[in-house]
Amino acid sequence: MNILLLGPPGAGKGTQGERLADRLGLRKIATGDVLRAAVREGTEQGRNAKAYMDRGDLVPDEVILGIMKDALAAPASASGVILDGVVRTVPQAEGLERVLRELGRTLDVVLLFDVEDDELVSRLSSRTICESCQTPYSGRPPGETCEKCGGTLVRRKDDEPNAVRTRMKAYREQTAPVVEWYRRRADGANGTRLVTVNALGPVDEITERVMRELEK
Ligand SMILES: [Zn+2]
Repeated sequence: MNILLLGPPGAGKGTQGERLADRLGLRKIATGDVLRAAVREGTEQGRNAKAYMDRGDLVPDEVILGIMKDALAAPASASGVILDGVVRTVPQAEGLERVLRELGRTLDVVLLFDVEDDELVSRLSSRTICESCQTPYSGRPPGETCEKCGGTLVRRKDDEPNAVRTRMKAYREQTAPVVEWYRRRADGANGTRLVTVNALGPVDEITERVMRELEK
């Protein structure tokens, strides 16, 4: 089974992806991880990517897709994969479809983690970090004292409510067309299912929700 995860930052995709990979015996592939591995191992595509990174440029989709294709073709991916952070735009969705087709594989499920903006704002704004030793905390408000070093807890700029709302707006503008693209695919005959999961609630409960959907 090949699964693609979609969802906003902070919706818990990474955590759920790990758990699903364990439960289903699939390999989890995140773009950042395979990119770093390819650069470290010095593969052809990795050297390609490094040239862009050394210049401070974004690595183009074509290079990322090449790295993704290598990862998908690896023996570790044979029984199936969970793709996290791989598709953010329609051209990337088209690219992934092409790469999978070249490998004789298909995407079985697109899992969309859905979460309300307000929930995300409260979830992210309850995260703080120690100003001095960088220890992360959850549910401890800014101004409290770090247990490890006595430093002051602060909120990351990215996690301020206004910053979260701005990120969510950008995410929805960018992702809505991707979701629509997969919805049209799902209606067609190529067999990809689009499943929306409510990402609100305890981590275990969300995993069970996803498992129930996948068993349908
Ligand atoms: Zn500290």
